[in-house]
Amino acid sequence: MTKFIIVTGGVLSGLGKGVTTAAIGLILRSRGLRIDVCKIDPYLNVDPGLMNPFQHGEVWVTKDGYEADLDFGHYERFLDVELTRDHNITTGKIYLSVLEKERRGEYLGQTVQIIPHVTDEIKQQLMNIARKSNPDVLIVEIGGTTGDIESMPFLEALRQLRMELGRENVLFIHVTLVPVLDAVGEQKTKPTQHSVKELRSIGIQPDVLVCRCREPLLDETKAKLSLYCDVSKRDVISNHDVEVIYEVPLIMEEQGIGDTILEKLNLRERAHDLKEWRSFVSRIKQVKEKVSIAMVGKYTHLHDSYISVVEALKHAAWKLERRVEVLWVEAERLEEGEEDALSGADGILVPGGFGVRGSEGKISAIRYAREHGIPYLGICFGFQLAVVEFARNVAGLAGANSTELDPGAEHPVIDLLPEQRGIDRLGGTMRLGEIEVSIKPGTLAHRIYGCESVGERHRHRYEVNPEYIPLLERHGLVFSATSDSGRRMEICELPSHPHFIATQFHPEFRSRPLKPAPVFLSFVSAAAERRRSRDA
Ligand code: GLN
Repeated sequence: MTKFIIVTGGVLSGLGKGVTTAAIGLILRSRGLRIDVCKIDPYLNVDPGLMNPFQHGEVWVTKDGYEADLDFGHYERFLDVELTRDHNITTGKIYLSVLEKERRGEYLGQTVQIIPHVTDEIKQQLMNIARKSNPDVLIVEIGGTTGDIESMPFLEALRQLRMELGRENVLFIHVTLVPVLDAVGEQKTKPTQHSVKELRSIGIQPDVLVCRCREPLLDETKAKLSLYCDVSKRDVISNHDVEVIYEVPLIMEEQGIGDTILEKLNLRERAHDLKEWRSFVSRIKQVKEKVSIAMVGKYTHLHDSYISVVEALKHAAWKLERRVEVLWVEAERLEEGEEDALSGADGILVPGGFGVRGSEGKISAIRYAREHGIPYLGICFGFQLAVVEFARNVAGLAGANSTELDPGAEHPVIDLLPEQRGIDRLGGTMRLGEIEVSIKPGTLAHRIYGCESVGERHRHRYEVNPEYIPLLERHGLVFSATSDSGRRMEICELPSHPHFIATQFHPEFRSRPLKPAPVFLSFVSAAAERRRSRDA
């Protein structure tokens, strides 16, 4: 039977609960357990696809084309797994299902209520996940902070689950913050005490506390938390700031969290094997030599909006014994002609994006990369804008644009996908998820992938307008990968340039710390090469 670990959060959001959850998964898997991980997001949206990246960070895309919370990225990266739409439960999904059942008459005669109907639905959806993948342990992260009104029905359902399945089958881990006030320099336990009190008032006593803090938790802080929160001292785990997030599983395992979990869940004692992970972490911490990548976007002051791209850059750089320095460039600044922001970059990257704001700045950045021979990587929007830039400045189509940015463009080189035309609902209707891409032999793309077919994840509504392809090709742009029997363009490159490549898909979603995405590896390697030759 599957056992459950429930990860709740206290004090404030953005604590790194997703990383903690992923780290716990890695620790348990290193003990030989089969694990699965899912996320509960208590907001009313059905999925996070339409949320503003400013508020919510990036949208992660699963292999099966679900738009998920960015914590899915942490899970997939740490655990090297591929999750599905079923691994995300939202209030929106729960209510949608309950209300559909009500309309079908499945609750005939009853008054439909939060307890038991909504809580039953929550438990049922969790059980469905467990039944499908049948792991030894299903780790369930609850988004938000204890005390939020939205999370109440979920916590209540999980309290019931523990009562029904027993303590040895359901474990609660509470992640909180232990701040240090500069004036006193003391680790403050009161916020954690309060949030545990809040949890207890709903009937949940946490078994383990994981405390985020700047420096390692002091022994006396652990003792105090143990006393006030009724958690044994051994089970108060310090999750202090580390240089790289991939170190988190190591510091938690050093404090014995693996043993604690096995013991409490009545699982057979097994030795852990984190050898490969440990040597990876110690290797990357020693890397000194830098490579600078200019990231040109419109959410550059909220780094969470580009987290997967940044992680993919790091994975690639580490493999090359380099440390990535990301130069955040606000696209709108480039529209004012401030190209200096790009001059220090070894490589220029335009990531995915939407909408007109900043788009001209991104086009300027692409032009700069193309004209100065600076390695360029464009992803999705960065691919489409590379085509626009080339059409305008090389192929002589001054009025070229994407119809997303100018519906009346004289030369709509990027236009809606035919199947997107009739769509008026925006939720979950893009071209999403993994799609097989065919790569042309003899191209940079082929040298990068070393094969003729690869599955990559997509999230877009627009694509290269087939009418313009012959003209663009005549001027030297190479479409080196396509999909859908050659109908859709997937990669473009410029053979006359040291390293200019752009992809309609998002290679960052398949990058893993120990397995960098080939496109990123090639791009960062070209950037490092440029830096070497500049230094020489
Ligand atoms: N806005 C573009 C489109 O919808 C690109 C999307 C993206 O970059 N993810 O096609």
